[in-house]
Amino acid sequence: MICLWFGTKDELAEHLRGAHSHLMVSRSFGCRATSTTMALILYKDEVFLYYKLITEDRNWHIFLQKAGITQQHFNYSITLSTGLPVNDSISTFSVTDISDKFECIYRNAFTCTHFAIEPYISGNEVNMTVTIEANSWD
Ligand SMILES: [Zn+2]
Repeated sequence: MICLWFGTKDELAEHLRGAHSHLMVSRSFGCRATSTTMALILYKDEVFLYYKLITEDRNWHIFLQKAGITQQHFNYSITLSTGLPVNDSISTFSVTDISDKFECIYRNAFTCTHFAIEPYISGNEVNMTVTIEANSWD
């Protein structure tokens, strides 16, 4: 996807709603794709960029970053389900800012081998839910 728009952070949410609404998902969404995908989220006046990157070595990497429109802090969690609640796997990370250093962004990325994710795949879909939460102390 190539987008040549430029503007201020204040105008970003409006631009995304207008030009990229097909990529928008809610702050808690099922991401069933088993190939590389991306999404945009608007929540609490903030803009979030979500990437699921599956590399050639079949490792999965998920990045969730905010554009930094607000000063709020957010966490996100990745829930993997097999259908049996007792087997749910939930990992929680900080949402990083797009201007953060890569080491910080990578530390807060979900990383997993295909082998480890396989129990959560049925057919061509993974049973994965992504949820963003605002930190309650803000
Ligand atoms: Zn655009």
